[in-house]
Order: sequence, then C-alpha cells, then structure tokens
Amino acid sequence: MICPVCHKREATEEVVRYFGAFKSQGLVCHECLSAAYSLDANGFYNVFYANLQKTCRRCGRSLNDILNTMIVGCPYCYTEFSEELKPLIDSLQSE
Ligand SMILES: [Zn+2]
Ligand SMILES: [Zn+2]
Repeated sequence: MICPVCHKREATEEVVRYFGAFKSQGLVCHECLSAAYSLDANGFYNVFYANLQKTCRRCGRSLNDILNTMIVGCPYCYTEFSEELKPLIDSLQSE
C-alpha cells in the first residue's frame, strides 16, 4: 500500500500508538515514521482512519466524537464502527 502520510512512497514501517487504552496502528513509509509518531490522536485518525466523519445511524455520534471521548453513543455504535473500533473493543475485552 501507499504511505497515507505522503501518498508517494510504499508504506513499509509499522507505527503503533496508544491513545488512552486505544491501541492504533498503521503503515507508513520510512521517511514518514517520525511524523506519524508526532501526530496527535485526531491527526492520527485523520490519516489512518479515513471515515472519521462517519456517523452512527442510530444515535448520530461520529467516529471522531467517539475517538475523542472514548465513549460510544449507543450499543449500535459497535456495529456501525466495528472495523474502526475493533482495536478498542479488543482491548476492552481483554481486560
Ligand atoms: Zn510517507
Ligand atoms: Zn450509536
């Protein structure tokens, strides 16, 4: 895949960040590795989770809101954002 930061080079380096209890990871090229580590949570999700503005069809909460607060709006959010929240749900279930 192409590096989501520069959109030029091949993404070969794994970046792993922890925002609260939420483990997030993505792939970037070697040159963008330090940039990926200096992103704040919002910036990180903007780069690696494209559909940040996606909203839950039941409660209207956006993925952005959930990631900012780490609180889902309703149980259906887990279904709606199953892909995006999988790392979060996995980390919650392992505790
Ligand atoms: Zn890059
Ligand atoms: Zn919801």
